[in-house]
Amino acid sequence: MKCLGCYKKIEKNEYCLSCRKKLFDGKRVSTLLEFDKPKAENMTMYNEHSKRMSISGVQLKYSLKLNGNKLELCETNGQYIIKPIPTADHFEMMEDAPENEHLTMQIASQIFNIKTAHNALICFKDGTPAYITRRFDVKGDGTKYIQEDFAQITNRTKETHGESYKYEGSYLEIGELIKKYVPASMIASENFFKVILFNYILSNGDAHLKNFSLVRNDFGEMELSPSYDLMSTIIHTPGERDTALDLFEKDHESEYYATYGHYGRTEFIEFAKRLGIVEVRYMRVINEFVENESSVYDFIQNSSLSNNSKGSFITSFKSRVKRFS
Ligand SMILES: [Zn+2]
Repeated sequence: MKCLGCYKKIEKNEYCLSCRKKLFDGKRVSTLLEFDKPKAENMTMYNEHSKRMSISGVQLKYSLKLNGNKLELCETNGQYIIKPIPTADHFEMMEDAPENEHLTMQIASQIFNIKTAHNALICFKDGTPAYITRRFDVKGDGTKYIQEDFAQITNRTKETHGESYKYEGSYLEIGELIKKYVPASMIASENFFKVILFNYILSNGDAHLKNFSLVRNDFGEMELSPSYDLMSTIIHTPGERDTALDLFEKDHESEYYATYGHYGRTEFIEFAKRLGIVEVRYMRVINEFVENESSVYDFIQNSSLSNNSKGSFITSFKSRVKRFS
């Protein structure tokens, strides 16, 4: 069988040692939770024992903490976030949402060396899967790192900028703020570029302002936080825009865009240049995606997505990579 964290083959139905270390500081935590998934009958229990942290579209998130080696719902001092299968009629293949996020996060970290929040699949008492992730802003002693997302940093709120405040601005605007606030900005800019390209090639059309954050490290310096909320959203919302934000202002005026109606190599090269990344570095990043195409297919095939979702994951990935080769 497979580890529900990293897909590695293992003997027993549990998280492998490496995932246990990353997620639970080595504790033997079961892949099965002791409580049921949220449903009408136990909604009161969920509402009483867990504060709804935020709703990004339809994905509800709940807070968990580790008590001994058991995960429990909690209101305060959460160490983990759990996302059950969302109940939303107008989206497609929602039962695959937890594995979609887990798979996309694992492809990011294992194939493309993108620093991500630690994550895995976990099952409710009845066996229904959910996505679980460890909060990177919580330290071992329970205190928190200072973290701000780019809606906060750019002072955009529902009150000041309306309902779609998270979808305002451009990725270049984020990039410029990274240069301003992060002392090691060369590395951060390159990592940021890689994540924007990853989102595009993996069809994550919902990478909005709140999905990027700066976090103050142990040395008191700001750095780009590990990536989170990565998923191939096109599986659930096939008609969506390619990107949640534009790369930069007037990016639609390039000849390639005018001809094909979508971004390609040209726009991403221009984006990288504006981030201040030198050619040899951005070309290495772009080529990494083309060169690792077959590893991505292996991960998708080896995942626990339904065959339908595997199909659309592969089809959309293939067509995006083609825009770069
Ligand atoms: Zn593992």
